[in-house]
Amino acid sequence: MISIYWTASTEILLLKKKNIIMTEKIILITGVSSGLGRAFAEAALAEGHIVIGTVRNDDARKEFETIEPKRAKSLILDVTDFGTIDPSISKIEQEIGPVDVLVNNAGYGHEGILEEASLADLRRQFDVNVFGAVALMKAVLPTMRKRRSGHIINITSMGGYITMPGIAYYCGSKFALEGISETLAKEVKGFGIHVTAVAPGSFRTDWAGRSMVRSGRSIADYDSVFDPIRKAREEKSGHQAGDPIKAAKVLLRLLATENPPVHLLLGSDALKLVREKIDSLAGEITAWEDVTLSTDFGSHSSVGSEVSCRGSAAGNKKK
Ligand code: NAP
Repeated sequence: MISIYWTASTEILLLKKKNIIMTEKIILITGVSSGLGRAFAEAALAEGHIVIGTVRNDDARKEFETIEPKRAKSLILDVTDFGTIDPSISKIEQEIGPVDVLVNNAGYGHEGILEEASLADLRRQFDVNVFGAVALMKAVLPTMRKRRSGHIINITSMGGYITMPGIAYYCGSKFALEGISETLAKEVKGFGIHVTAVAPGSFRTDWAGRSMVRSGRSIADYDSVFDPIRKAREEKSGHQAGDPIKAAKVLLRLLATENPPVHLLLGSDALKLVREKIDSLAGEITAWEDVTLSTDFGSHSSVGSEVSCRGSAAGNKKK
């Protein structure tokens, strides 16, 4: 059963039919119970938009709707309940109106060493962070395409660009969402639909606290590489530099921008770490350029059996 709760939906529908609130958008945000999703929802409501926020239980639903009884709508949805996503979007479109903006925000971080963490943990991470987000994109796209307008904002992460030991599954999911977002942006650009992948650095939310799924430890070999990272993350939780309210202001700015970016980083840590990653990647590509060029048919590169030696030498020289 789809649990969608509207308050004053008829009133909103009438207003929309009379074109009274045409500048206001209908914004669907997943995961509005806390953190970035909640901040996005509150900022959008304060600007007069209609926000349909997804939550996962009845208490969260009631609590969300108290923010703005007329324009805060709630939808009980776990984004991995794939079968309920299309009918939920149809219901929104019929009872409220077409979704102008989808913010795929719901997600969580899995923390654990790859060799220790189960495939079930990997599947769950991708189900929520990737498959759920894609299912929602697929559900809103038909109407956005017909209307030749819409904006899909996917909350990825700086972990969609950079990596560190202990979050392989999380980074994998966010790299995937970055790639999917960028590709989709090219597919739908001609239809007047924008896609923006927003990659936050560390923000002060429940992400590293109650929401994080932590795999148990079993292989002592990894203690030295992983234990300090886990400890540092636990200590930093609640003290991160990123302010969700400021991120929400950026989101509103994106909605008002005629040509929004396909990729946007949020936070000083994201900027620093992603720049370092891009520089290091560019250095490695250059160091191995001969080898890269040696594989085309008709390539006259002299790289052959000596490939690995020359590549390694160049790589070492760079460092
Ligand atoms: P948060 O405070 O833990 O909020 C996560 C939200 O996602 C909650 O509303 C949660 O609902 C919802 N959610 C989780 N799994 C869900 C599922 N299966 N179906 C539906 N909703 C689900 O963390 P946050 O930092 O605001 O996270 C928001 C997004 O930002 C995530 O995609 C996260 O990966 C990304 N991000 C966060 C940071 C950071 O440092 N905070 C950095 C980079 C990216 P419940 O309350 O029901 O659990």
